Amino acid sequence: MSRVIEADWTWTGAGFESGIRLAIDGDGRCAVLESDREPDERWNGKALMPGFVNAHSHAFQRGLRGQGEHFPRGSGSFWTWREAMYGLVESLDADRIFEISRLCFEEMVRAGITEVGEFHYVHHLREGDWKLDEVLLRAARDVGIRISLLLAYYRSGGIGKPLTGAQKRFDVRSPEEYWNAFQRLSEHLDPATQSLGCVVHSIRAAPLDELAEVHAEARRRGVVFHMHVEEQRQEIEDSVAAFGAPPMRLLLERLEIDSSFTAVHCTHTSPADLRALFDTGANACICPLTEANLGDGIPPTGLFDGKHALALGTDSNARISFLEEMRWLEYAQRLAGERRGVVLDGAGRSAERLIEIATSGGARSLRGEARDLRPGAPADFICIDLGATSLGGEDGTRLASSLVFGAGNDAIEGVYVGGRRLHGMEG
Ligand SMILES: [Zn+2]
Repeated sequence: MSRVIEADWTWTGAGFESGIRLAIDGDGRCAVLESDREPDERWNGKALMPGFVNAHSHAFQRGLRGQGEHFPRGSGSFWTWREAMYGLVESLDADRIFEISRLCFEEMVRAGITEVGEFHYVHHLREGDWKLDEVLLRAARDVGIRISLLLAYYRSGGIGKPLTGAQKRFDVRSPEEYWNAFQRLSEHLDPATQSLGCVVHSIRAAPLDELAEVHAEARRRGVVFHMHVEEQRQEIEDSVAAFGAPPMRLLLERLEIDSSFTAVHCTHTSPADLRALFDTGANACICPLTEANLGDGIPPTGLFDGKHALALGTDSNARISFLEEMRWLEYAQRLAGERRGVVLDGAGRSAERLIEIATSGGARSLRGEARDLRPGAPADFICIDLGATSLGGEDGTRLASSLVFGAGNDAIEGVYVGGRRLHGMEG
């Protein structure tokens, strides 16, 4: 049994259009986008659009909110922040991870995020017990958010260095142990809303031969593969010292990279390596608020030259607003390049391109398929209140730009996953 909704404006993939009716079938999928059937519900003063897909999160880092922003000994860095993050890791038990993750996912839903790629590496309470992965699936199920749990391979504490201290909670001792854990976890999935993906944490976290072995097996199994790449200059310097090449170059030379691969950050990647990455069809995931908070740097303009496969992530979850991630992807480029309009679609539109990255781009990274409100897609969508203070009665023609450059989470009135309401208005 399907229901048909018509709002004032609905996102079609090309822009917001009027006269569009969204049908949701009994399996929680979009049946048709334009229907002759009279709407069962008329949502006046509202707009509908696909939910945002957050391609990169570490939910437990939500527990650092409000910490690490005092600098009594002068400026800090990513590496001093990492020590604080390890302090948090050491303090966590299963209940605390559940509570923080649940809170984090709840906050994501309120920001219009209907699906999260949770890049998860805190596996153990005690050495090798693998007690903490299933907790993330439970927290996501409790909130109702769709999740791709991206299970991380983490074997070394730096290139050629053993794991120490809190890092022992991340330990994976062999590819065989990793795939056994992957298999066990697959038995806990809710098939309607949960899936698994593969991760090697970074070039720091695994010997190159094991990295290649895990990636090849992920391809054989047809699961997506994510990895942190070139977030910090130090990572590049260490890689050049150890292997004679930066991480991205090594990956391009040693792995068979394709569209199932996502490189997270690429903050300091050279233009030539970026071009080579995109030529394979792979994705790059940028996390503008976290990269600003951690002082990582600004990604190279070459990222935005064409219609590359880009996605966005909330990463450390220091602030959860996908609208803000979208506008800061563009704003960082404006500040760095002293010009306006860098992240653009083929028609020179910035907000529309940013919405495409935040929805279809994330879905491409997490499951290899574009995600919008097309027939057969999951009915994961959000309802925008056109009367919100930050919008002020938009008429549709300027809605995308007003939303991305002017609005906040207050404009997101209802959030639906598989046609089921998680937050906001009745319906
Ligand atoms: Zn990350």
